[in-house]
Amino acid sequence: MVATTEEVLELHGRVRECTACPLHLTRTQAVPGYGPVTARVMAVGEAPGENEDREGKPFVGAAGRLLTTLLESVGLDRRDIYITNIVKCRPPRNRDPEPIEVESCSHFLDEQIALLQPDVILLLGRHALHRLLPDAGGISRLHGERVRRDDRVYVPLFHPAAALYNGGLKETLEADMRRVRGYLADAEAARARRAGGASASDMRKVAAAAGGDQMDLF
Ligand code: URA
Repeated sequence: MVATTEEVLELHGRVRECTACPLHLTRTQAVPGYGPVTARVMAVGEAPGENEDREGKPFVGAAGRLLTTLLESVGLDRRDIYITNIVKCRPPRNRDPEPIEVESCSHFLDEQIALLQPDVILLLGRHALHRLLPDAGGISRLHGERVRRDDRVYVPLFHPAAALYNGGLKETLEADMRRVRGYLADAEAARARRAGGASASDMRKVAAAAGGDQMDLF
């Protein structure tokens, strides 16, 4: 079942009103996530930074521009991907999120995954890896690998912000992104097989006609 725009907007509304942890006291606004409800790929970062806090959208600063470039380098359009973070409000001075902040925010990410049912989840950085695959291992070993859990593919990647200051990491990210392209092709084929021959794009058309929606969210 593909989520409806209304369901995702309702969730975004709850994120914007959330006061469950102290980050609501210092945020300009919460950053729920952005992308089509029909996205087959979800990207999960750490937490909003200054630009995201101001604009209310994830990955709109320098790291976001690098993410867009990396996706485009393998023929992926950022507008097809639902992008969010494990923590929805900016930690002061962009410090790492505290465990209690991750803990109080986590149910939103769980709900987003349950609603959108993405085939592939890109884990951007060690915080996202640790939150969604706590027992899998570290990012240095797992980056670019395909980790299968419960019918879903996770791909840990270095965080684009880290690659902004380290050219070597950028090359690694580019190489890992090429692997992601192959994983997506496999996931698309598996989905088509499960659907009895219909392609994923056929399925999206069917879902849209049945009340799913291709509209961007914010
Ligand atoms: N870094 C993140 O992890 N998330 C954003 O939204 C922006 C930068």
